Amino acid sequence: MMEKLWRTWLLHFAYIEEKGEESMRKYGESGILLSVVCNRCGKKLAVKEGILREGAAHFDVAWDYFSEKDGEVHHFDLCEECYDGVTREFLIEADKEERTELL
Ligand SMILES: [Zn+2]
Repeated sequence: MMEKLWRTWLLHFAYIEEKGEESMRKYGESGILLSVVCNRCGKKLAVKEGILREGAAHFDVAWDYFSEKDGEVHHFDLCEECYDGVTREFLIEADKEERTELL
């Protein structure tokens, strides 16, 4: 059960990835990214010419039938500092691997 939720969490984790309209991400009329705010600390992240210019983690978490939030999809961003703060509290460290293809 926990492992399934973890897999959901990890599957939806990606660096600087966006999928549509989200509350803490603002987009212009042409779909260009205007701003990103860290959901944890409220810090406004650097966005220039539609591109996020600093380290941040974007999460899309699709909750399924076995959760209390069935059918809900949660979206949020964490600045790198908050990401480090949150993951530092993990009892078991996040799995890490080298990315072979850079964005
Ligand atoms: Zn933050």
